[in-house]
Amino acid sequence: MNCQQCLQNVDAYIEKRLPENKIAEVKKHLEVCSACSELVFFGEIAEKVITEEKALNVNPYLSVRVMTQINISKLSEKGYKSIGSFTGILRPFLVAASITVAVFLGIIGGNNYQPKSSSNDIPEEMVYINDANLESLDLLINE
Ligand SMILES: [Zn+2]
Repeated sequence: MNCQQCLQNVDAYIEKRLPENKIAEVKKHLEVCSACSELVFFGEIAEKVITEEKALNVNPYLSVRVMTQINISKLSEKGYKSIGSFTGILRPFLVAASITVAVFLGIIGGNNYQPKSSSNDIPEEMVYINDANLESLDLLINE
C-alpha cells in the first residue's frame, strides 16, 4: 500500500468502518510511513473531539438565558449611568423612607376615619321599634 491508497482509506480507518484485511494493510503502511501515521494521529484526535461534542446534551434554553442576562445587565448599566452612582447608593434609603411614609399615611388615614352616620344620632330603624314590646311592664305590675 502506498501513501495515496492509504489516504483513500484513512477516514474509514479512523471511523472504524474498514474491513479487517484493509485495516491490516493500513496498519502495515502506518508503521513505515511517518507522514500517514501523523495524519491518522490527528484524525483520531479530531474524531474523538467530534464524538464527545455530539454526546453533549445541549440545553436549548441556555442561549436564551445568557442573552436575557446580557440584556438585563446592559439595561441596568444604562439606568445607573443616567441616574448617577449617588442615587444608586441612596436607593435603599429612598425605598425605606417611602415605605415609612406609606405606613404613617395609613395610620393617619385610619385614625381620621369616621363612619358616615355619627354614633350620637339614632339610626332610622330604631325610630320604628316599639319599646313597649321589647320589655313588657304589665307583667311586673300584676305580680
Ligand atoms: Zn504514507
